[in-house]
Parts: sequence; structure tokens; C-alpha cells
Amino acid sequence: MLATMPGASFAGKLPPLTAAQAELAERLRSHVRHLSESIGPRNFKFYEGLKRSADWLFENLRSFGYDVERLPFEADGQVFENLHTCNDQGPFTVIGAHYDSVYECPGANDNGSAVASLLELARLLRGRQDLRFVLFTNEEPPFYKTELMGSRVYVQKLLEERQSVKNMICLETMGYYTEAPDSQKSPWADWLPSVGNFVAVCGDVRSTRIVREIVGRWQGRVDFPCLGVAPTPEIEQELLMAGMDMSDHDSFWRASIPAVMVTDTVFYRYAHYHTAEDTWEKLTYEPLARVVGGLAQVLSLPLH
Ligand SMILES: [Zn+2]
Repeated sequence: MLATMPGASFAGKLPPLTAAQAELAERLRSHVRHLSESIGPRNFKFYEGLKRSADWLFENLRSFGYDVERLPFEADGQVFENLHTCNDQGPFTVIGAHYDSVYECPGANDNGSAVASLLELARLLRGRQDLRFVLFTNEEPPFYKTELMGSRVYVQKLLEERQSVKNMICLETMGYYTEAPDSQKSPWADWLPSVGNFVAVCGDVRSTRIVREIVGRWQGRVDFPCLGVAPTPEIEQELLMAGMDMSDHDSFWRASIPAVMVTDTVFYRYAHYHTAEDTWEKLTYEPLARVVGGLAQVLSLPLH
């Protein structure tokens, strides 16, 4: 059983895009294209790509008026870095996304879509002391779920510095939406809707309250389908087995910090996951702009 969610998901025909949403869609497209085409693969093997990405992200966040700190650490003889926007006063909500890509993959959807979304959220929500934007390195193998995964290193630092973190929102592979019939796969038959036109907000049992808060603010306010996923204790293990812990929010869960993943459901919908075909023109930027605009609306007031 899933925990019940407040409100009903948006259904029916989407309203026309506003001018602001159209501009947002173009900005998202341009960011994803830059990361996946101009830079391309970015990881321990394609180290130059990782460096160029970090420089570009640093400059972008600075251009929005943020103080940005680079947080280098060593792994297997190379230096990697997380980046974050600085705010001294807690408690804050971390909004995070990994900026590396897997091996030879240009990583347009995984995770250029989420990095682009993070940048635009940072631009739309600038000046907010209760939000901290973090870009993680080393989410992908061989560092995935090891002590050298960027988000694990970051959480360790938060704990050592006794920083006051309320919760975390992980942006992961969120750029593909379609109205095609049977476009959505599901870990179990009929568990998810059959059309892949929605964004999912997923939490573990301990994060149910924040899933409800985000989804509750979304429904009735944002004209885009949104599905809240939080398990009851009986099915938590099954959901984890289905991949619900497969990104940087897991590093926060391990430290008992409530965290959610915002996603298009990754390989349950997108055919080009972790392949060389994960390129910028495969993504759907107008729906993504509705999602990012919706998140900005939901976050216009601090989360509890
Ligand atoms: Zn990945």
C-alpha cells in the first residue's frame, strides 16, 4: 500500500504555454544542449568534461548573484568537486542534482535535465536563505553508493559541521514526458499510470510528510500531472528494490534526513537511459518547463 496523497492529480488538456513558460523551456533546452553536446560525457574517464561542467555551473550560479563554493575531494587519485550556494543560517532545504554522466553517455536526461532544472530554480528563487543548491559529482559508477559518491561526501561534511538541514529534494532524470498510450512502464503491472505524462515525487516512509507537503501544494495549483509516491512500511523494501533509492537522496536517507526524488521515472519511461543515445533532442522541454515552473511555485514558501 502507498500512503495516501492530498488532492487529485491534474488531468485533461494542458493550458497553452505562457510566455514565461516558453522562455523557460528555451533556457532549459539551451542548458541541456550545452552540457550534453558542447561538453558531452563528464566523469572520471572524461575528466575534462567534468572540469568544464563544474566551471560552467560555478559561473552560472554566480551570475544569478550567489556566493558559490567549490568543495574538492580526492577519489582514486583524481580530484573531484561538489559545488554549493552558500547560506550560513539554517535550517535549510537542500535542492541537489548530480552533474556527472555515466561512462560514454552524453547524459542529456540523466542528468542534464535535472542540472538545467536546478539552475533555473536557482535563478527563479534567488535570494532565499532557506534554500541551498548543491551540484554533486560521482553519482554514477564506479562511485555509485560508495563512500566516494559526491552526495555521500557532502552529507558527511554536513554532519561533521553540524549544519542544520531540514530536508532534501533530489532532482533526477526529469526531462521526458509523453501522451503516447502505454508509454509508461511499471515495476508491477498497473502500478503506475500507463501514460508517461506525469512527474513523480518519491520518498521513503520517513519522508512521507514532505512528499505530502510538496504534492499537496502542487495539486490544484499547478496544471501538470504530479504523482506522489510514498510507501507504507509493508512495501518499502519492494519499492527500494524497484529502484526508488537510485540517486543522491539515498545519501540523505542514510543520515536520517527526509528526502524526496523528483523524476520522470527514468528507465520506466525513457528508452535511452545510460546509452550514447541520451541526447538533448530526445527530451520534451515544454512539459519540463511546466514541471520546473511548478516546483518554483511549490517552493515559493519555505518547506516545513
Ligand atoms: Zn544515471
